[in-house]
Amino acid sequence: MAIDQHGDAKLEGVSIRSLPKVSLHDHLDGALRPQTIIEIADEVGVEVPEAAADDLADWFEDQSDSGSLVEYLKTFDLTIAVMQTRDGLRRVAKEFVEDLAADGVIYGEVRWAPEQHLQGGLSLDEVVEAVQEGIEEGEDAVEASGRDIRVGQLISAMRHTDRSLEIAELAVRHRGRGAVGFDIAGPEAGFPPSNLRPAFDYLASAFFPATVHAGEAAGLDSIRSALIDGRALRLGHGVRIAEDLDVVEQKGEEVQVRFGDLARWVRDREIPLELSPSSNLQTGAIAAWGTQLEDHPFDLLYQLGFAVTVNVDNRTMSRTSLTRELSLLADAFEYTLEDLEAFQLNAAAAAFLTIEEREELIELIGEGFSA
Ligand SMILES: [Zn+2]
Repeated sequence: MAIDQHGDAKLEGVSIRSLPKVSLHDHLDGALRPQTIIEIADEVGVEVPEAAADDLADWFEDQSDSGSLVEYLKTFDLTIAVMQTRDGLRRVAKEFVEDLAADGVIYGEVRWAPEQHLQGGLSLDEVVEAVQEGIEEGEDAVEASGRDIRVGQLISAMRHTDRSLEIAELAVRHRGRGAVGFDIAGPEAGFPPSNLRPAFDYLASAFFPATVHAGEAAGLDSIRSALIDGRALRLGHGVRIAEDLDVVEQKGEEVQVRFGDLARWVRDREIPLELSPSSNLQTGAIAAWGTQLEDHPFDLLYQLGFAVTVNVDNRTMSRTSLTRELSLLADAFEYTLEDLEAFQLNAAAAAFLTIEEREELIELIGEGFSA
């Protein structure tokens, strides 16, 4: 299968980019255009490691592929540094929406941590408002170009700071004004969701939905805590749920799988997994299975009936797009259009929207894939 330089490929004669898609796990501070970073950095006096956009794009890729967490995290120091002003946040959010639409996304959820954007003197509420302005400007620009997209905010609290209850309250305060859900991000190992229990108790009491990064840098205990303490409706990656599957090869071709109670629960309750193939490879989340995309337990989880969704995680760091992730998966596992549609339908059903809105998305996806 030929994947072009923009990550697009033809499947059954159809461009994957042209198909309607839903993006659920997409970090705002991981999705900046290199040229925008250079321009804002110049305005606000931040140093950049490369002066030309192409070279900066290469730098992000190299840092992310380095295998060093320290080098990888430097990329976020840079993107977050240019997102400390109202104008910076607004521009980045607007372009985020435009780039999703250009990739064929019809509904997206953008996650980011407001507490990391207060260095310019803005308040938590002001940064959420600035991002919302940018999202709405982006939606308007997309509509003016003849397409449609909607994007909701997932407000993330950082696991290692002690602000999670305050951030949960911020998220609920902006319900109906852009915020559609809550997330926790940052170091997973050593910072289980149980540490943030007061925030999750508050969210549950307000009936505000949460997705939780779990099963990426830590294993089954972290996933368990995400479901029990976090009452997570979705798992951010969740890929290490596959550790609870015991794959027993039978004679011949037949493969038998024994489920642990946790894996059985996640599958049978259809708790969506926000899998991010390229990112999962780069962060070592799937190291137990191998180092190539073909080793990713994505296909095993899909074949077993888990509610798998396909995501980008950090587009700039992984130099990717949802189209590219789908192309790579189709290439690795010989997926058909029907498989790609199943992933989009799973994502639409998992969106933090009303049931009417989710049904509308499901209809649009069905139309787009059958056209
Ligand atoms: Zn993530």
